[in-house]
Amino acid sequence: MKTLNDFNFEDKKALIRVDFNVPLNDAFEVTDTTRIQAAKSTIIKVLEDGGSCVLMSHLGRPKGVEEKFSLKHIVAEVTKVLGVQVKFIEDCVGEKAEEAVANLASGEVLLLENLRFYEEEKKGDVAFAEKLAKLGDVYVNDAFGTAHRAHASTTIIAQFFSENKCFGNLLAREIESIDKVLNNSEKPVLAVLGGAKVSSKITVIENILDKVDHLIIGGGMTFTFVKAQGGTVGDSICEDDKMDLALEILKQAKAKNVQIHLPVDVIAADDFSNDANTQVIDVTKIPDGWQGLDAGPKSRENFDAVVNKCKTILWNGPLGVFEMESFSEGTIALGHSIDNATKNGTFSLVGGGDSVAAVKQFGFAEKVSYVSTGGGAMLEMLEGKALPGIEAILK
Ligand code: AMP
Repeated sequence: MKTLNDFNFEDKKALIRVDFNVPLNDAFEVTDTTRIQAAKSTIIKVLEDGGSCVLMSHLGRPKGVEEKFSLKHIVAEVTKVLGVQVKFIEDCVGEKAEEAVANLASGEVLLLENLRFYEEEKKGDVAFAEKLAKLGDVYVNDAFGTAHRAHASTTIIAQFFSENKCFGNLLAREIESIDKVLNNSEKPVLAVLGGAKVSSKITVIENILDKVDHLIIGGGMTFTFVKAQGGTVGDSICEDDKMDLALEILKQAKAKNVQIHLPVDVIAADDFSNDANTQVIDVTKIPDGWQGLDAGPKSRENFDAVVNKCKTILWNGPLGVFEMESFSEGTIALGHSIDNATKNGTFSLVGGGDSVAAVKQFGFAEKVSYVSTGGGAMLEMLEGKALPGIEAILK
């Protein structure tokens, strides 16, 4: 795996695909700089070597050129985070961009305009990728969030750099962290899968059964498993058409010696609302008019015991409707359990979809070993898929 450390960037121009798809408010100010911070170490390494950086990214989902999606809005914030004045050019290919790159001196950083102003980017257009490739000596991919897309700047471009391409620090760490869970893990290994639906996690579950010793299934998925086994789930979210699949998963788990842990009790509510009436109830005996919206106290205790005996933990998906305070306790309790285990030497990786929002919201982001930056990309890796953006560098 080629990384930044395999290169000396002195007098070289690094063309870096970053993920600066950051949230902006109505005044076009960046409201969360996490993704810019995440790219910093790669950029600084190139500058410290005596090279220069040409940064390319997408922002939002523009239809053609749309001013509100211009990356010019983030120049000040990138400058602030990097501590280096960032230059900006209002195109990402063609004469203007090429001229700006030619005038770039060592130690300087240039940000190109939004790649998705060209529809060729998402189409993975080869001619467009070739134009982009003119803008640097070494191609560095540091955008995990788009590594599962075969876009021009994330994948197709790599073919124009033969040996001169590598992973940035962020992408390398993402790959290493997932590898540490899936392939080089210290046992016992635990996966906690929560979230809303079985259907969106089914491929992950199937792939992960070969990798883990314990699997905690929580969140809305719980009820499909409970009902399939004869329980009564009331008005809880449940995919009746996935019940056979749930039983098949339980069977497979048994055959593979994977212990499945489901909640035994839940916080049930008489309405999908923070102010609903609630009761703690056996997960298999939820009456009509009530829905399970969080893991109950006994479940939290059970999960804590499982977490405590595992040396590697992957967490994807909240255990309840954490967005509402009344149903956030199960997710918070799991965060505490994983925090404690991590302090005792367990490797913990959080990623995919809403779990990252949950760990950030409850202050666990700094307490786990690694928080992944790419939702969809992470899920695809957990599903066992090869990501085009990663394959293109390895080729
Ligand atoms: P995902 O993106 O698949 O990780 O799903 C996350 C969503 O699942 C969050 O918005 C949660 O509110 C939701 N969720 C978790 N537990 C439940 C539940 N028991 N009932 C309904 N939705 C849930």
